[in-house]
Amino acid sequence: MTYDLDHPEIREAVAKLCEGFPGEYWRECDRQTAYPTAFVQALTEGGFLSALIPEAYGGLGIPLSAAAAILEEIHQAGCNAAACHAQMYTMGTVLRHGSQEQKAAYLPKIASGELRLQAFGVTEPTSGTDTTSLRTTARRSGDKYIINGQKIWTSRAEHSDLLLLLARTTSKDQVKKKTDGLSVFLVDMRMVPKRSLSIRPIKTMMNHSATELFFNDMEIPTSSLVGEEGKGFRYILSGMNAERILIAAECIGDAKWFIKKTCNYANERIIFNRPIGQNQGIQFPIARAYSQMRAAELMVREGARLYEAGSTSGEEANLAKLLSADASWAAAEACVQTHGGFGFAEEYDVERKYREARLYQVAPISTNLVLSYVAEHVLGMARSY
Ligand SMILES: Cc1cc2nc3c(=O)[nH]c(=O)nc-3n(C[C@H](O)[C@H](O)[C@H](O)COP(=O)(O)OP(=O)(O)OC[C@H]3O[C@@H](n4cnc5c(N)ncnc54)[C@H](O)[C@@H]3O)c2cc1C
Repeated sequence: MTYDLDHPEIREAVAKLCEGFPGEYWRECDRQTAYPTAFVQALTEGGFLSALIPEAYGGLGIPLSAAAAILEEIHQAGCNAAACHAQMYTMGTVLRHGSQEQKAAYLPKIASGELRLQAFGVTEPTSGTDTTSLRTTARRSGDKYIINGQKIWTSRAEHSDLLLLLARTTSKDQVKKKTDGLSVFLVDMRMVPKRSLSIRPIKTMMNHSATELFFNDMEIPTSSLVGEEGKGFRYILSGMNAERILIAAECIGDAKWFIKKTCNYANERIIFNRPIGQNQGIQFPIARAYSQMRAAELMVREGARLYEAGSTSGEEANLAKLLSADASWAAAEACVQTHGGFGFAEEYDVERKYREARLYQVAPISTNLVLSYVAEHVLGMARSY
């Protein structure tokens, strides 16, 4: 089947929805450090967050490029999909590796929004990027697993029913490869006793609903295990390419928002009796950011095309994430600089988007780690870690 990678009807529908959530809505959420519930609800009701869930499970069952178009459009409109994008792709691990029972029990409810799967617990304070050194353990005891440990930066845990959790089931010194012995669990956080799971919000430079989680003998049924015990690391990795392409699409949307906002302001602002955009010192950073964005956009599309063709799109997905995060950051810089003092004023939304765009140099994977992937896995240089 061939698809129009532009998905114009989807873009139009998303853009229309986003009109109901202008800058003032996001500024107010920011001021209150509030979760954008109404926005997430509208996206859920529109079915957009179920984009990648097959129709058989009640989702839209549309391709990755269409999901990317949804996220790009949200960001291009000045909104922020980081409040809920995980609902779109975190279920991929369950879809690909879960049992028939798990898929039947959870996917239709995730598709309808009755259940929120927005939380993904991998990163820990001591291990950081070195995922295989994580310390959270899951010990089997009869028909239960008992979880102990800590996660950090688990986004949206307070606004999610389910948590996809990566924990060690066999200690590192007892496995042949350090990537073995990790397992994935689909934890229903509504069912675990409050004393065994505490969720602590972390205030960040942007309104992101980040949290840290503490597990204290948290008991979950063995039916929470996704796929086979010990194979969790590769299950998580199998979802990374889709995630990279989707986040890259958000960055493209951000870059487009910044560029449009910057050009408008450059044309309107009169200083020394002429528009500031007449000065090449103003024009060139914007033109450069636009060029970077267009090149990155092509890589996002190539990543999505290969992914949809069933190819391993690791190189393209990583490059798409790297290039589009750089493009959105270049556009953010040009936007603040062009706005002069007004770039710092809340009412222009520039400073909010600037803070939001900065995240993608670090999460969900930091720039250095993408470069390391390219150097070692694409260019064949020696492993550095
Ligand atoms: C707002 C926010 C939301 C997040 N949401 C989630 C979430 O929902 N779930 C989740 O599991 N995680 C989440 N993360 C975590 C995120 O994925 C990590 O912050 C990121 O992967 C980097 O890990 P770290 O912070 O531990 O940095 P570290 O691993 O401590 O690294 C610090 C710096 O050193 C660099 N570095 C480390 N090792 C190397 C190396 N070998 N070579 C070169 N440079 C290196 C890194 O690139 C980075 O710049 C979130 C983070 C943030 C800030």
